Amino acid sequence: MSLPSFKLLRPRRMEEAVQHLLEHSKDLQLLAGGTDLLPSMKQRLFTPAYVMDLRGIEEMHGIQVRPGVGVEIGALTPLSVIEDSEFIFRKYRVLHEAMKTVASPILRNMGTLGGNICLDTRCVWYNQSLQWRRSCGFCIKKDGDLCHVAPGGKKCWAAFSADTPPALLCLGAELEIVGPVGTRRMAIKDFYTNVGDARMRLEPHEMITRVFLPESSAGWKGSYMKLRIRGSIDYPLAGVAVALRQNGGPVQAARMAITAVNPAPLLVPGIEQALAGKRVDENSAAAVGELAAKTGKPLTTSALTPEYRREIIKVYAKRALLAASAG
Ligand SMILES: Cc1cc2nc3c(=O)[nH]c(=O)nc-3n(C[C@H](O)[C@H](O)[C@H](O)COP(=O)(O)OP(=O)(O)OC[C@H]3O[C@@H](n4cnc5c(N)ncnc54)[C@H](O)[C@@H]3O)c2cc1C
Repeated sequence: MSLPSFKLLRPRRMEEAVQHLLEHSKDLQLLAGGTDLLPSMKQRLFTPAYVMDLRGIEEMHGIQVRPGVGVEIGALTPLSVIEDSEFIFRKYRVLHEAMKTVASPILRNMGTLGGNICLDTRCVWYNQSLQWRRSCGFCIKKDGDLCHVAPGGKKCWAAFSADTPPALLCLGAELEIVGPVGTRRMAIKDFYTNVGDARMRLEPHEMITRVFLPESSAGWKGSYMKLRIRGSIDYPLAGVAVALRQNGGPVQAARMAITAVNPAPLLVPGIEQALAGKRVDENSAAAVGELAAKTGKPLTTSALTPEYRREIIKVYAKRALLAASAG
């Protein structure tokens, strides 16, 4: 499959990028590593007049440690650079654990943190060629008005299927967003809409420039577990991240988040109360598994059945918690 034609914009400075966004945002797609966008363009899910390649903007790259505050990661930083960072490994373990499961090593060299956070939602009725979609019927996310997954409603249920956002939710990450009216900062927990065809609270003329991890969640234990069809390369069909503050005894603080079973990555409510002051054992981990399974609403958006994916969330939540606690 070939790419549709488009005009490539390659800004070198942030102001230049913002100017392009102001002029062309209605018909422009942002390109970071391109590992998701370009296959989607080949499938004619996007046919923009302009593609803006952000990789030339130096200030959107790299990891900066800010003592006493936390760490800033440029949105254009390749996933493999973050995975190889000794600092991230030691201080923000859950992010390292999630990062190393994204796709494959080559895709992590190309793919970026910003691209992973803004990954398009996925569905068996959407991620198909134009011919496939034309013959089987277009869906609400692209060119149609019906959700084949839940035909009775008007909501798009395409699943958000990136691995790092649940880890970032557990760490209380914040995003820096830049656009023509200036710079704003938003907690990642407020960024996603949980609606498959309008997945994030980002205006068309805005982009993510940096990700902040607070010092307050540095040093937490962490673990990430995901279900995928091909163990060496695939998107998650269910994923659970957990981060814990615990010094050998009872849990002092805890967060858990799930991915790939809803149109957004979601924090599991009630985890803090379920674990605070308790030791992690088979019983408390099983109770947490039940909470995680209640938060997940998998539908027939992928090859595996919703029932199986909900069960896997329960099992992986338990295992991820036990693994994180064991360090
Ligand atoms: C075979 C295969 C397997 C994969 N497996 C996984 C997997 O296991 N887990 C997983 O999470 N992903 C997986 N992916 C998807 C993808 O490789 C990663 O999610 C990657 O991190 C995307 O980053 P990117 O820089 O390549 O994004 P791009 O493809 O460049 O962009 C993705 C989306 O984000 C938008 N975007 C990019 N940067 C910004 C920004 N700074 N501000 C605003 N919007 C922006 C783009 O416009 C586009 O809509 C897989 C892809 C393939 C091809």
